[in-house]
Amino acid sequence: MDFEDTPELAAFRREARAWLDANAERRTDNLHMGMEGEAAHLEGKAWYKKKADAGFACLTWPKEYGGAGLTSLHDVVWAQEVQNYRTRDAQFVIGIGNCGPAIMHFAPEETRRELLPRMASAEDVWCQLFSEPSAGSDVAGLRTRAERDGDNWKLNGQKIWTSGALYSDFGVVLTRTDPTVSKYKGLTLFMIDMRQPGVEVRPIKQMDGGQHFNEVFFHDAVVPDHYRLGEVGGGWTGALTVLMSERLAISGVQPTGFPQFLDMVRSLELNGEPVANDPIVRDRLATWYSQYAGLQSANKRMITAVAKGGIAGAEASLGKLVGAVMNQEIANFCCQLFGQAGIIQEAQFSPQRAHFQDSVLFSPGVRLAGGTDEVMRNIIAEQVLGLPQEPRADKGMAFKDIPTGPS
Ligand SMILES: Cc1cc2nc3c(=O)[nH]c(=O)nc-3n(C[C@H](O)[C@H](O)[C@H](O)COP(=O)(O)OP(=O)(O)OC[C@H]3O[C@@H](n4cnc5c(N)ncnc54)[C@H](O)[C@@H]3O)c2cc1C
Repeated sequence: MDFEDTPELAAFRREARAWLDANAERRTDNLHMGMEGEAAHLEGKAWYKKKADAGFACLTWPKEYGGAGLTSLHDVVWAQEVQNYRTRDAQFVIGIGNCGPAIMHFAPEETRRELLPRMASAEDVWCQLFSEPSAGSDVAGLRTRAERDGDNWKLNGQKIWTSGALYSDFGVVLTRTDPTVSKYKGLTLFMIDMRQPGVEVRPIKQMDGGQHFNEVFFHDAVVPDHYRLGEVGGGWTGALTVLMSERLAISGVQPTGFPQFLDMVRSLELNGEPVANDPIVRDRLATWYSQYAGLQSANKRMITAVAKGGIAGAEASLGKLVGAVMNQEIANFCCQLFGQAGIIQEAQFSPQRAHFQDSVLFSPGVRLAGGTDEVMRNIIAEQVLGLPQEPRADKGMAFKDIPTGPS
């Protein structure tokens, strides 16, 4: 595929750049944004609203759902431009990137028109309620129950690791509606109003000091039937749409650590010598550069597939695996290189403002979120290398008959 802009895309790029110059701060480094919690949430909402009002949110969504009705290549151009500015988009990736496409595909038309424009302007923030204490990689093993109650459904059970649930207005929740059939067949997907008494959100404190994710408990939480996504018992199809969108959305925002490492190598002196003269640093630079360049090429292959109307294939899993491992290796290497200076937060003493220490603390999570290393390896083994599927002992068995540990 030709990666040069067409005249239309070049015009869009100029327009996007001019708007970003006027409305966002240009990046002078690749360090993280800092600040989280409610202040970051409100700042993010204000930024997203401004972006939506200017017509730059949800570029590929139809206009009637709050989007701009443009193509996925416009989306690529926007992503290439916006990465040069300091903006708070990450907190909307789960809603807009993961949940949005499933709602567009499976929700009744009236519900789409009600909910999607509010999502697109960040008036409502969404979370994804899939993982449970005993159902993560094997998410189809989940136990949260949904039972019919007239025109409504009643939900009981527990989710965990729900990113952003504390500040979310709505969530997409995968539930079990029939334990008498096999585990993939008895699932139903819903949208749930998080601001109701039956939903209890408990933040989880992380080792980096943040509270990025949460436990969520449902106590007779109520969901109207028109908030169902797809058929009763057909939830796995909807869940796969969410998970595939997640892989694509993650590939755009997942940290690799390489731009920050390159900034550091270009600018830092250690013991009076440019760090770039150090042979070990040079060796690492060559290794990570080649991995990073490989990821960029895989990303272009993915863009080509999407531009031709296809879907992201195993490239997304490959990118996730290589990027997440590199991110952790870079963080560990830099912290060892800096010694005590690595933990200094103040910019005047340490230009890296402890970026790599923060990264050491968060990078294990990046290797788990959106599918662990091992799960990515399984996908690559089966879909790229054509190896046999791993044995599935519970295949075809009714969910209620699958043996579990003592509860
Ligand atoms: C930062 C972060 C954000 C997250 N946000 C969300 C969110 O918003 N919503 C949500 O629903 N979930 C979220 N999650 C949860 C995430 O999806 C799960 O952590 C992930 O799917 C792994 O599940 P688990 O933690 O239960 O680990 P398990 O599935 O219990 O895995 C434990 C270990 O066993 C390995 N393993 C499991 N199965 C296999 C297999 N078949 N073959 C080989 N090895 C295997 C795993 O690789 C892992 O090393 C988030 C997680 C993180 C870290």
